[in-house]
Amino acid sequence: MKLIIDGMLGKLARWLRMMGHDVEYPNSRDDSELLTIAKKERRILLTRDFQLYQQAIAKEIDSFYVEGQTEEQRLSELAMRFGISLEIDMATSRCPKCNTQVKPISKEKVAGRVEKSTFEHYTEFWECPKCGQVYWQGAHWTRIRETLKTAEQHLQKQKKGSV
Ligand SMILES: [Zn+2]
Repeated sequence: MKLIIDGMLGKLARWLRMMGHDVEYPNSRDDSELLTIAKKERRILLTRDFQLYQQAIAKEIDSFYVEGQTEEQRLSELAMRFGISLEIDMATSRCPKCNTQVKPISKEKVAGRVEKSTFEHYTEFWECPKCGQVYWQGAHWTRIRETLKTAEQHLQKQKKGSV
């Protein structure tokens, strides 16, 4: 999915990139610029600004008004609306910082670029070819998996119509 996200939803932008979606997240908070990019690049606009949402709809831009308060709720709303899967596949995952698809990198190549303990504990690493950030499925992945699991539970409830 190609998306553009307004300035209030930076955390969601990072999640969606990790989940493999092409997400623009302009630094500028200029609404007309967001709308122009969305239109030109045929991106779906995600926003928490109802006025901006209405402007987008008036310009025939595909837009989604995000209501959820937590990341889990927001992700499940998007899964419900767009049918995206609530998982991260490293084969398609994008750099949360710069939106570039990450590539596997051999362990030898990250020597000296990550903490020694990280290097010793993990065997699989990925690198962003654009910004050079190295990724691995470290301790923080427990939280990532929990968030996705909770989002999936919200989704199942929504599907049953109990929310
Ligand atoms: Zn990057």
